[in-house]
Amino acid sequence: MKSMNERLLDFKAAQMAGTYTVCPRCGCDTMKPDLYTNALSRMADIMVCDTCGLDEAKLAFMRAPGTLASWACMQPNRPAADFKATGANEAQAAILKEQLPYLIEVYKKAQKPDTDLDALRLEAYETCAGLTTLWLKPFQASYEVRGGKILVRLQERDGGIAVATNVIPDA
Ligand SMILES: [Zn+2]
Repeated sequence: MKSMNERLLDFKAAQMAGTYTVCPRCGCDTMKPDLYTNALSRMADIMVCDTCGLDEAKLAFMRAPGTLASWACMQPNRPAADFKATGANEAQAAILKEQLPYLIEVYKKAQKPDTDLDALRLEAYETCAGLTTLWLKPFQASYEVRGGKILVRLQERDGGIAVATNVIPDA
């Protein structure tokens, strides 16, 4: 699992190499071509656009700096799933077969005190096709499927991990 910091270093390297040219914070094409004439972020050692620099200054003044997890460059590349094309039961079977072992690993990591939860969630979104929302504590993964959504809940029970899945039809 790549930490947020490692991801940031990757973006910084690409920024310095000139291959990542949008603003890492807002994701817009607002960076001036000469990298170091843009603003140095207050949250991380990376250049952001002037608008974001001002925005960070304002938020810092209000003592509400926000989180790196909300930056554009930290948003996951979500693999597509065809769950909207298949029926809910079929989708549920596919999720349990293909993703449950991974979800259990994510669940276990989330219980450890020193786990970077933002990074863990980001990795899960990039790994699990069709995963739309993931809550780690309590653990609940939500998938959009045709006609509704599927919820997968995990919790510790009798020394093991209990799995509960529900199909919630659209109202
Ligand atoms: Zn920006």
